[in-house]
Amino acid sequence: MARNLEPSCKQCRREGGKLFLKGTRCETDKCAIERRNYPPGEHGRGRVKETEYLLQLREKQKAKRIYGVLERQFRRYYAKASRQPGITGENLLALLERRLDNVLLRAGFALSPKDARQLVRHGHTRVNGRKVDIPSFEVKEGDVIEIKEKSKDITRILQAVRFAEGRPGSTWLKVDLEKRRAEVTSLPKREDIELPIKESLIVELYSK
Ligand code: SF4
Repeated sequence: MARNLEPSCKQCRREGGKLFLKGTRCETDKCAIERRNYPPGEHGRGRVKETEYLLQLREKQKAKRIYGVLERQFRRYYAKASRQPGITGENLLALLERRLDNVLLRAGFALSPKDARQLVRHGHTRVNGRKVDIPSFEVKEGDVIEIKEKSKDITRILQAVRFAEGRPGSTWLKVDLEKRRAEVTSLPKREDIELPIKESLIVELYSK
């Protein structure tokens, strides 16, 4: 399956802020944004004219990078969001938030989006007791997401759970870190998604 192979820190530098793509490292002074907060490349420190289009484009790229989604799939999410009742930008974020790989990350079972995606792809995840290995699987209200019994204590999950302990969890998930279990208590709304994304700019871009 196609995925973005650009180094994680380079992606953050391109967007000019932390996208938290590397787990614990993102909270240390080794973070590339702490050290070199300017775009990568030869002309990284040059002046760039901030056009309306550029702002919209950057916002879309940021959302794609945070959720690890490529352009074609992102457009499909947008098309689905625009067919739903309500505000398209908010629908779009809610759909992205409901991805199974994102749920593992929000629940604290994975340290980074890449890690979460791999846990799903490698079959460590169960949804309502059944194996699901599709990272884009869309969870519904009432779904129970668990790490399969044999994988509950693998090193990467133990590290992630340790990191998540004592941190505020997502408001739309009821998480039992000990049991490696999360229940979708309600579908995510915009106020549940604490991401620095201006979704209205993405809608403006696609509405042109
Ligand atoms: Fe981004 Fe994390 Fe790298 Fe910092 S350490 S630049 S937040 S991926």
